Amino acid sequence: MSDIARIAATLATARDVAVATHIIPDGDCLGSMLALTLALRDRGARVVAINADPVPEMFQYLPGQETIIPPARVTQMPPLLVMVDCTDLERAGNGFGAWQNRVEKIINIDHHVSNTRFGHLNLVDGQAAATAELIYAILEAIPVNITPKVATCLYTGLATDTGSFQYESCTARTLRLAANLMERGALMPLIREYLWERKPLHSIRLLAATLPTLTLAYDGRVAWLTVTRATLEATGCGPEHAEGLVNYPRSIAGVEVGLLFRELPEGKIKVSLRSKKIVDVNQVAGLFGGGGHRRAAGCTLAGELETVVARVVAAAGAALTK
Ligand code: 5GP
Ligand code: MN
Repeated sequence: MSDIARIAATLATARDVAVATHIIPDGDCLGSMLALTLALRDRGARVVAINADPVPEMFQYLPGQETIIPPARVTQMPPLLVMVDCTDLERAGNGFGAWQNRVEKIINIDHHVSNTRFGHLNLVDGQAAATAELIYAILEAIPVNITPKVATCLYTGLATDTGSFQYESCTARTLRLAANLMERGALMPLIREYLWERKPLHSIRLLAATLPTLTLAYDGRVAWLTVTRATLEATGCGPEHAEGLVNYPRSIAGVEVGLLFRELPEGKIKVSLRSKKIVDVNQVAGLFGGGGHRRAAGCTLAGELETVVARVVAAAGAALTK
């Protein structure tokens, strides 16, 4: 039996399920989590959707997002926990690893190559452009009816994790699935408006304040931007509004590695890494305890901003010649 069939069979009979994903949630983890949540609820299962962080404003159109609760509000953990788009249990937030011992079974569905296969059942496919692709395959195998709401969630996962169908990870399979989800009634006007036509003004002010920090090294092959807490405060932004800024340094001609450094409220530095053709940024992030994909990865480091910048830029520069 394939991983997909095994997971589908388990979910087909599950009556009580928890679904959770990583902190600082993005479109793919939320879309994947909610598609699964809604589809299982349609089958009559009781499903609790858990995330330690609030849903960013740009994803507040996702059906079912209003039912997501933080771990502290879960009074009784169901026997089955499904983790989606999450490389390891720590990525789900402080202390989430403790849940491992409080549930009977963990299903782990992810497309990150750095996934630690922490589940009892694991579906990890680094070829998938988004975890939403894998959720679709499981829903098809159960089988469940893909409603317009479920299609909206899955389409969001595909669109956001492929940078609007631009990245190397986007395949003919991804585009076929996107077309299929459109046919099944994905709410395109809502998706378009929230993802691309409804940016809060302060996020544009943050872009304006951040672009002057652009710095290049290694003959223009590594480029980065920095977002300090002072900039966030001055523009009225949270760390989530810096999402996507890393694409500016990467988009420059001649740049192989684009980086974004963000100061987090607790004094740590969150780094986003992107590459074009050569550098495996999953490996670079791995040097600092992070991970992700070959062309998009992240890590969080303690320390002063300048020190962290120097360390990560040096590692990216070294990777150019590997
Ligand atoms: P982003 O830079 O957009 O936050 O993340 C890029 C990719 O790297 C995403 O697939 C994300 O899940 C992964 N990623 C980001 N930060 C971390 C981290 O601290 N640890 C791990 N393992 N993966 C990360
Ligand atoms: Mn993803």
